[in-house]
Amino acid sequence: MAETDRERRVIDEVTKGLIIGGSVRDATEQKTFGVEDPSTGELLCDVADASPEDGMVALKAAHDAQPEWAATAPRERGEILRRAFELITERADDIALIMTLEMGKPLAESKAEITYAAEFFRWFSEEAVRISGEWKVNATGNGRVLVMRQPIGPCLLITPWNFPLAMGTRKIGPAIAAGCTMVIKPASLTPLTILKLADILAEAGLPDGVLNVVTTTSTGKVMGPLIADGRIRKLSFTGSTEVGQKLIEQSAQQVLKTSMELGGNAPFVVCADADVDEAVQGAMLAKMRNIGEACTAANRFYIHADVAEEFTKKLVDRMSDMKVGRGTEEGVEVGPLVEADQRDKVAELVDDAVQKGATVRTGGQIPSGAGYFYPPTVLSDVPTSARLAKEEIFGPVAPIFTFTEDDDAIRAANDTEFGLVSYLYTKDLSRAIRLSERLEAGMVGLNQGMVSNAGAPFGGVKQSGLGREGGTVGIDEYLEIKYVAMNV
Ligand code: ADP
Repeated sequence: MAETDRERRVIDEVTKGLIIGGSVRDATEQKTFGVEDPSTGELLCDVADASPEDGMVALKAAHDAQPEWAATAPRERGEILRRAFELITERADDIALIMTLEMGKPLAESKAEITYAAEFFRWFSEEAVRISGEWKVNATGNGRVLVMRQPIGPCLLITPWNFPLAMGTRKIGPAIAAGCTMVIKPASLTPLTILKLADILAEAGLPDGVLNVVTTTSTGKVMGPLIADGRIRKLSFTGSTEVGQKLIEQSAQQVLKTSMELGGNAPFVVCADADVDEAVQGAMLAKMRNIGEACTAANRFYIHADVAEEFTKKLVDRMSDMKVGRGTEEGVEVGPLVEADQRDKVAELVDDAVQKGATVRTGGQIPSGAGYFYPPTVLSDVPTSARLAKEEIFGPVAPIFTFTEDDDAIRAANDTEFGLVSYLYTKDLSRAIRLSERLEAGMVGLNQGMVSNAGAPFGGVKQSGLGREGGTVGIDEYLEIKYVAMNV
């Protein structure tokens, strides 16, 4: 149960049904599933649990709405996004509370995510009116080339639980701007934030059927038939590499265009010439934002031997000072992990590293009591054979490795099948450029611990994904190019 009147009110106000063609409906046989508060393990509410048939009804609604929506004036689509940006900003306190209750992160972090999430709507409200084409004279002079960019068609959007709002707006924003309709399936751990967003978009004037929300626990069974149906023209997914690989395979059947934001294993490299205090500040952000449950989270710290002890001590001081608790409580900086399995996996990775010789500098023990808490943890002397050198931790654990040659740091940083983001700290400009060029990642945080920005292209290389979200290229994922060869 929600604990206070205000918590109960915000949860009560969320639509709990499937949102299809502008109406709210029950799932087949009125099936529902529970949404939990991870700080207590208690039930917050039940939401509709869609069947494969419900999924197909949502697809039909998106498909039916597509032609008219594609013909809407770009300015009108932009204005809807702009109004939604303003409504989200106005209601940030309530949305933050819903997000904290279902996901666990502290309220301040929920608010920061809401600012970031809303920014995608503002950004794409501006992009909606800048979709352009090309016109040129043929090389031979006797023909013309007309290039147009058109909405790709109905999209399937699948989002994860770690950033319940931003991972939605980053896909919904460009889809609306481009003139695409969509079915969105939020993570079953955190469906409430997207349901809240759908109501806001309707209030902002989004026509019925443009955005359809399907909540379900039978994810594969409900998504499979949609991916296999020729009416869906695009799949945009954020989640694990493992699930992303399956979805790419399934997408091959219809040669479906896909955007994939998958796992990360970010290295955080601190050179001998770095400003150590700034590096520690950046490390706190890169590691502890979202309790470490981010694909951009720093996973492996490579610190030059000359500054390693200073860096480690300062990081340990900051990490051990953080207040752990329920995200709704004043001053809490570290909430619970999202579920018991997630916490057990973090504990297992730490135990494995310790068994192989790592030293626990702070944290490292599951606290007693309710909720899926894990304390901020720093490990030094971590051997490269430890599993957490290779596997995404997704929790508040910072393993520290040392190096003496830049080449070794870059080799170790790149020694992973992932390539989402790398962090690099150095005051030397030419070293910064040289090493940034050599890091195999879609993004580099240079002397900063956070790269997320609605106006920049977010995405990874290698097994971290396909395509980019945000920036001037973000809308391209939702547009098809058509060329008309003109005989003049
Ligand atoms: P995470 O645990 O980081 O959210 P997942 O990859 O497990 O990563 O889940 C991301 C999203 O993908 C969630 O909405 C989840 O329900 C969905 N998902 C999981 N398995 C499948 C599947 N087989 N087909 C389609 N979507 C899936």
